[in-house]
Amino acid sequence: MLKCPIYKRCGGCNLLHKTYEEGLEEKKALIASLFQKEKLVGFPTHICGMENPTRYRNKMQVTFKREGRKTIGGFYEENTHRVIDLEECFIHSELLNNIATFLPKLIDKLHLSAYDEDRGSGLIRHALLKEGFVSHEVMVVIVTASEVFPGRSEFVKELRQAFPAITTIIQNVNPRKTSIILGEKERILYGPGWISDTLCSLRFKITSKSFFQVNPKQTEVLYGHVERMAGLKGTEIVLDAYSGIGTIGMILSKKAKQVYCVENNSDAVRAGISNAKDNKITNVQFFCDDATHFLNAIAKNNEHIDCLIMDPPRTGSTPSFLDSILKLKPKKVLYVSCDPTTLVRDLKTLIPTYQIIDSIAVDMFCWTKHVETIVCLSKKQA
Ligand code: SAH
Repeated sequence: MLKCPIYKRCGGCNLLHKTYEEGLEEKKALIASLFQKEKLVGFPTHICGMENPTRYRNKMQVTFKREGRKTIGGFYEENTHRVIDLEECFIHSELLNNIATFLPKLIDKLHLSAYDEDRGSGLIRHALLKEGFVSHEVMVVIVTASEVFPGRSEFVKELRQAFPAITTIIQNVNPRKTSIILGEKERILYGPGWISDTLCSLRFKITSKSFFQVNPKQTEVLYGHVERMAGLKGTEIVLDAYSGIGTIGMILSKKAKQVYCVENNSDAVRAGISNAKDNKITNVQFFCDDATHFLNAIAKNNEHIDCLIMDPPRTGSTPSFLDSILKLKPKKVLYVSCDPTTLVRDLKTLIPTYQIIDSIAVDMFCWTKHVETIVCLSKKQA
């Protein structure tokens, strides 16, 4: 059991009152009970935990708020918009913690104002920090309520001086009254505007807006199981749906004939195309589209897919996407899920035609109730 000073208020790590092993068992049991409730066989009997489940996250989001005469920065208190003054969060690196606690002091030193949600006044809303665990590159995104950022160059100078590890600084402008962190507009204040990191021997460009798995060590475990379950021989057409920057597709491309990646975030698609080029991969093609729209279209055209990988967000996939799978009938479907509830809901549509031949859970979000599951489905013989 680990001691965290903000455990009760933060709510991020909601399994901290248990040992790590008890938490793992609880996640495994949750997945099993969801499958059993729907009489689905083949749920994972193993969960891959971390040897050292601390300092595992590569991404940190902090929100700023004025409290009395000073600015504080930290996470939102669970289910509220109250900001908890961050002392230390041990699921993030010391470096990210240090940057996060330095920023409120810098805001005050430069007489900048933290954004006030209720009044809609003030400038600095959030900071988004990303860290390359292999590359050691660090991105700082400062989210402001308006484009005008007085003392911008001083801000950048002081931040870089204090943390030479920072390789890029971005200003993101979010003027809307919303709890979504990032706005549309961005201005690069320092460096290339992206960082890179290495996963499974490939180098990936990570941008502020594109998705990148938050636990790099466990991501390699996850992708290793995806590769094993896909069991490609080199002749297959693979579709990586909800591909993000194309990490899974590119890792599988070594053993596939052709890989198609579909993703609806244009920023991620741009990064993906550039990633494929940088890694000299020529058999991966990206489509910037809604996954359901794309699947419907290729099902209508009777395209051939051997192996479909799907890794949707927590909300899961759509009935129409699943119907298209039943039309396309790929031999194998690998469902990578970060929410077992929507996974089970979606599997119910596929199970009459498919059977689960393998599955495993991976603890990507240690100490939190969230869990990642991979289910490998094989088409039943007609
Ligand atoms: N497989 C990737 C990304 C998984 S996260 C990885 O391992 O890194 C899910 C991705 O689905 C995100 O990149 C998100 O932008 C994308 N997404 C969400 N809704 C989508 C939709 N309707 N159509 C296509 N992509 C979508």
